[in-house]
Amino acid sequence: MTLNKLVRPNILSLEPYTCARNEFTGEARAWLDANENSRITEYNRYPDPLQIEVKRRLGAYRGVEIERMFLGVGSDECIDIAYRVFCRPGIDNVVAIEPTYGMYQVCAAINDIEYRRVSLHEDFSLNIDALLDACDENTKIIWICTPNNPTGNAYTREQLCEICRRFKGITIVDEAYIDFSPKGSMIEFLNEFPRLIVMQTFSKAWASAAIRLGVSYASPEIINIYNNVKYPYNINELTQRQALKALDNIANIENVTKELIDARKRLADSLATLDCVQKIYPSDANFLLVKVSNANDIYSFLRDNGVIVRNRCRVHLCGECLRITVGDESENNLLIEKLAEYVTK
Ligand SMILES: *Cc1c(COP(=O)(O)O)cnc(C)c1O
Repeated sequence: MTLNKLVRPNILSLEPYTCARNEFTGEARAWLDANENSRITEYNRYPDPLQIEVKRRLGAYRGVEIERMFLGVGSDECIDIAYRVFCRPGIDNVVAIEPTYGMYQVCAAINDIEYRRVSLHEDFSLNIDALLDACDENTKIIWICTPNNPTGNAYTREQLCEICRRFKGITIVDEAYIDFSPKGSMIEFLNEFPRLIVMQTFSKAWASAAIRLGVSYASPEIINIYNNVKYPYNINELTQRQALKALDNIANIENVTKELIDARKRLADSLATLDCVQKIYPSDANFLLVKVSNANDIYSFLRDNGVIVRNRCRVHLCGECLRITVGDESENNLLIEKLAEYVTK
């Protein structure tokens, strides 16, 4: 299928807003085009609508051209814009693995798009045939989260490439946790698969959840359409400046990520010694999915002791499971100390 058949007709024919900062770029002696307040400075100017400097620096690190990058207000915007660009409300549908990250379904509901769930196998592995069987001529997107939230496992590039090859719509791979995984990013395959979109975020390994910055990598054609649809100044100046600061410190982020991966192993080893812990699922992310003797009771016990984890016991295939973020040394120690105090009912 060509991109033109996948994009909503109203989006294809859209005449986008042209903002002042898009019409003229370069040096000027007087900026009198955007009705800003020149008398008070620092944050008085509209930010760069295409965030070129952030993209240049991030792209240099990831090995991607600026034309293949879209920055969103968190992954939330990257998810929502995919629905708004590709999915006709009340007509189209999307397919996603189950269980997975909850925002794909919430955004589908908000955009009036049918959301089709395809169960993972019991061991959380992919059922590619079932995913493709769930698709019909109105399926625009397949969502794959890898490493997956809340299961923590990652899928192989061979599997993800197979989906890209066999599915005629848009495959979106959410790599929010990719920096914690030895499996490589799908970014490398953007050239090979023009209908592949790869999502990443500053919220996890980059320790910048507060600045709300998500990234979609895709073909220049898709990025062009995204740029026409987004709010003109979606990424504010404070966020762009803070992102550049994070990009100044990549070595530090890489070190902290390595340490976290070590801490994940130590935390899993400690958890394994506890009576109330029944299973620790392998994790390629910065959290552990842990099956316990009584998830509701242990969740409440931890909460009453000031330790907050995510109770996932009502999620498909995650009965009696808690999702536990790998914290800093003192947080992890407190968690283990409290779980050791818990007496299994
Ligand atoms: C945490 C997370 C994100 C990040 O969302 P932001 O809006 O960028 O903070 C994206 N996808 C998944 C699967 C996540 O778990």
